[in-house]
Amino acid sequence: MFENLSERLSGVFDRLTKQGALSEADVESALREVRTALLEADVSLPVVREFVKAVSKKATGQAVTKSITPGQQVVKIVHDELIAMLAGDTDPGVLKIDSPPAPILMVGLQGSGKTTTTAKLARRLKDREGKRVLLASLDTNRPAAMEQLAILGTQIGVDTLPIVKGEDPIAIAKRAKTQASLGGYDVYILDTAGRLHIDAELIAQAAAVRDVVSPRETLLVVDGLTGQDAVNVATEFDAKIGVTGVVLTRMDGDGRGGAALSMRAITGKPIRFIGLGEKTDALEVFDANRIAGRILGMGDIVALVEKAQATFEAEQAERMVKRFQKGLFNMNDLRGQLEQMLKMGGMEGLMSMMPGMGKMSKQMSDAGMDDRMLRRQIALINAMTKKERANPDLLQASRKRRIAAGAGLDVSELNKLLKQHRQMADMMKKMGKMGKGGMLKQAMS
Ligand code: GDP
Repeated sequence: MFENLSERLSGVFDRLTKQGALSEADVESALREVRTALLEADVSLPVVREFVKAVSKKATGQAVTKSITPGQQVVKIVHDELIAMLAGDTDPGVLKIDSPPAPILMVGLQGSGKTTTTAKLARRLKDREGKRVLLASLDTNRPAAMEQLAILGTQIGVDTLPIVKGEDPIAIAKRAKTQASLGGYDVYILDTAGRLHIDAELIAQAAAVRDVVSPRETLLVVDGLTGQDAVNVATEFDAKIGVTGVVLTRMDGDGRGGAALSMRAITGKPIRFIGLGEKTDALEVFDANRIAGRILGMGDIVALVEKAQATFEAEQAERMVKRFQKGLFNMNDLRGQLEQMLKMGGMEGLMSMMPGMGKMSKQMSDAGMDDRMLRRQIALINAMTKKERANPDLLQASRKRRIAAGAGLDVSELNKLLKQHRQMADMMKKMGKMGKGGMLKQAMS
């Protein structure tokens, strides 16, 4: 999977990472190649546009640490954006099957691999989670499909609902529900009928079954080899039936990978599993990290950049601790703190980690200090000159007015900031006196 895309991209990035310095034009031309490679992999155009835009924005604004090249940095940005494009908010492998018997509805077109996936999933739930699973086929149009599920069930040691000739899908669903309750099953999985195309009858039937069992998960099975079509099928199924996730099959083939890359961005639905073969154990939880790694094939560089970033941040923290220990705390330090707070999800986060800061943290939040406030304060500090940042006592009334105006804010905001800085500087001095290896050191490490 992704071989062509991966090859194209590694070509682009090999060239990029070998260069010492990068101009904006270098990055731009690399991104043009990335764009072409993604389009050739059948990723949809709006998704490609968004992707390239996001990478380009980050690549131009990034501070580069000494130990890595700008090209390596770009690789890392592309890697992170790939993950952002692929990943949903929740763990794809965790199915909502907490209240037994939990119904799972499998939907999809004929030939997508729905029946095989149903068996794969049942095997996974049984083997990995020790669940008692009941399977039922609702594909009354194709007796062979019902037989196939029964055979697969026997192979993997999972019960299937006995086939009753002439029964309609709704009746089968009801019987499965009753049987799952009476039989003490944890999960029952309904393999609905597939058609070659989405039609009104197929949708009406799936919706009726859905209304009978109220599935905890509705998983759409789509053929990963069909590229954009897979994404269109997902959009339509979701609009008409509502799906909670997608299983992409045939990812073991040499498909171009576009479906995987566009799926979440376009449908908003996460890929939960991928099918990697015909056997019942060929199912993998979708892992955005691993897929991004496979696509880029540049794991070494990604790890290197991550390490460099961590080192850089640790060095910065260390520098700050040293300054604090000497009782030094100017506007640059305050800005560093404010930026750190923003990164760590606001005021409370950082303050709560620093002993003795709890009270101040409360005062700050009482005073209505939130992320917007943090950003305004950073803007004020940015509007100062270098000298003023190093020594805010230099600020006269006229400069204060100009700084506030420069940041588009009122002078009272600046005065508040200066007061806050003074309080913190006093605190730092006191804490600094506690000596090396004291509380601050512990709090920052
Ligand atoms: P259904 O009509 O949607 O129920 O599709 P089936 O489950 O019967 O699968 C159709 C064909 O695709 C069968 O030959 C399966 O073995 C095959 N198949 C299903 N999933 C995969 C997969 O992930 N990889 C490969 N290579 N083949 C698959």
